[in-house]
Amino acid sequence: MNQLPAPGLERLCLHTITTKPWKIEEAARNYSAAGVKGITVWRDTLEGRNISQTGEMLHQHGLEIVSLCRGGFFPSIDPEKRKAAIDENRRAIDEAFTLGTDKIVLVCGADPAQSLEDSRKQIHDGIAAIIPEAAAAGVRLAIEPLHPMFADTRSAINTLSQANDLAEMLNTPWVGVAVDVYHLWWDPELENEIRRCGRNNNLLAFHVCDWKSPTTDMLNDRGLMGEGCIPLKKIRSWVEEAGFKGFIEVEIFSNEYWKMDQSIFLERIVKAYKEFV
Ligand code: ZN
Repeated sequence: MNQLPAPGLERLCLHTITTKPWKIEEAARNYSAAGVKGITVWRDTLEGRNISQTGEMLHQHGLEIVSLCRGGFFPSIDPEKRKAAIDENRRAIDEAFTLGTDKIVLVCGADPAQSLEDSRKQIHDGIAAIIPEAAAAGVRLAIEPLHPMFADTRSAINTLSQANDLAEMLNTPWVGVAVDVYHLWWDPELENEIRRCGRNNNLLAFHVCDWKSPTTDMLNDRGLMGEGCIPLKKIRSWVEEAGFKGFIEVEIFSNEYWKMDQSIFLERIVKAYKEFV
């Protein structure tokens, strides 16, 4: 593990939400100047913009558009809402295609008014419904399991084992999984399950940050790599042994970091990436 070489800057991708105070144009300019090569675009940053021109702008800054965040939120006890969610996911696929990325991250959703089993069934059916559009657009759907503390409303898929089960059940090259260390670092089955999604060519994305101890806000207190208890190098070694060679995506939601000068934050991200990932 100590021999794991530091990852090169050519594999560094930032999620736009990590530097939320920046508009996408500012993010593109500053990421590019810092040597970042990839960007994962959150849909809110596209509001009011021409999506195709925005994609072009990102490419002109030398950024690869790694994925669009996010689709999902399929379950609801209300059938009309489930139908609306499927339509919304079809719009996300269109946006991804127009923007120029071949991947969408799925935060699958859950409805506390029904059982987790029912939510999981609706997630399966929702993803199955949009596979034809994903295939036509050449966009792969990455199921991201969320930490169980989000099982009430954000995702009924809480372990990589469940995400692998679902991807294998859907059994199409257009569906795989996203490994986010924040959600999965605690799981004793993580190494095996990373190996499993590697074997099935289902490992589509790798998200990093850190778990601060104590965590003061379960959504918006993610740590910078190296300031928490996640064994980042160990998990990266598993991901790479599973054959993953894609971007390493920094995804930090943090009320604290959003308050600071984002240029200084970006410098700290690049430094932490080289040192701790
Ligand atoms: Zn993530």
